[in-house]
Amino acid sequence: MKKVLLPLHEPVFGGNEWRYVKRCLDSTWVSTGAAFVERFEAAVASRLGVRHAVAVVNGTAALHLALEAAGVEAGCEVLAPSLTFIATANSAAYLGARPRFVDADPSTMGLDPVVLQDYLSRKARVRRGACWHRDTGRRVAACLPVHVLGHPPRLDRLLEVCGRWRIPVVEDATESLGSTFQGRAAGTFGLAGALSFNGNKIITTGGGGMVVTDDAATAARLRHLSTQAKKDPVAYVHDRLGYNYRLPGINAALGLAQLEQLDGFVKRKRRVARWYASALAGTDLAFRWEPDGARSNFWLNAVFAGSRDRARRIMAGLAAAGIESRPLWTPCHRQPIFKPPLTAGTLPVTDSLWRATVTLPSSANMTRRDVEAVARVLSSCP
Ligand SMILES: *Cc1c(COP(=O)(O)O)cnc(C)c1O
Repeated sequence: MKKVLLPLHEPVFGGNEWRYVKRCLDSTWVSTGAAFVERFEAAVASRLGVRHAVAVVNGTAALHLALEAAGVEAGCEVLAPSLTFIATANSAAYLGARPRFVDADPSTMGLDPVVLQDYLSRKARVRRGACWHRDTGRRVAACLPVHVLGHPPRLDRLLEVCGRWRIPVVEDATESLGSTFQGRAAGTFGLAGALSFNGNKIITTGGGGMVVTDDAATAARLRHLSTQAKKDPVAYVHDRLGYNYRLPGINAALGLAQLEQLDGFVKRKRRVARWYASALAGTDLAFRWEPDGARSNFWLNAVFAGSRDRARRIMAGLAAAGIESRPLWTPCHRQPIFKPPLTAGTLPVTDSLWRATVTLPSSANMTRRDVEAVARVLSSCP
């Protein structure tokens, strides 16, 4: 195994990270009561143009809480893409709900609004202000679109369809901090949006996440659930099953410093994407560009290689050159834990994108020479 010269995604610590973390340590408030937590929440809310932000331990916890706050409970169904990281579907399963997988839109890689509308018009009905599945009799309690690799799905159409069928929307915006769709920040379209600050995301707190929402009641529910559902600030009285999901101050200190650099990271990552696009322009590899109406953070760049065999040859060629690359996630409808899966029809686009897509090094600190080195290996793998 050769040494990795170009990793898929590495964090860049170029701002106030050391200073804020030291200040947090000096204050001794390293845990959840820290002032840095509130400052980080306020900064994210203001950056995204949303009223409330609740910091939690990771993006998976953010999804779990957001779905619970949206009313998902045992015995419900949650509409979700299959082409996503397993955490999306797991968050529904944690609540005893079943994910129902919907095919991807080839133009965004996200949940396809046409497939969704077609499926609901055949299989759903609205009764008592909620959506119910005609065959299973279960409530369709939420729709969870994902911004795949940072690219927003067709949120205008998805919101319209879900609105018509009375289905609350929760966005998995864990990959898309800094992206916008029709000028509005990713994560702010639905009832709530989940963010992640894992080490491989566009900004990191080591591990961390956040739920953003404009709805005050939802924000209050999120805070309550994330702090063991403690009812009263003094007495230890808990009025429902809660979680210890609050983000520690030390992570929030790191997050605040990272957030200050978000605009710079987006700018640099968009430049990396443009370099890839121009370096691959003469080849038969389809570089994934941002969807119409979107301004993407280009969290991870990707090429569509046309076939699974070619994708494999490309990944082997890159590995031999010390360049890290990955396939897309094995789709959720093919995962052993969701066997047999609930699906909304067949998922041919999901399968084809999964089999032939390769994700490429995308760190904000990449140079044009780095990108051209990757492109050269790509062009030499027939
Ligand atoms: C990263 C990620 C998550 C989970 O975030 P963590 O902070 O790692 O728990 C969920 N969904 C998607 C699509 C992700 O990429």
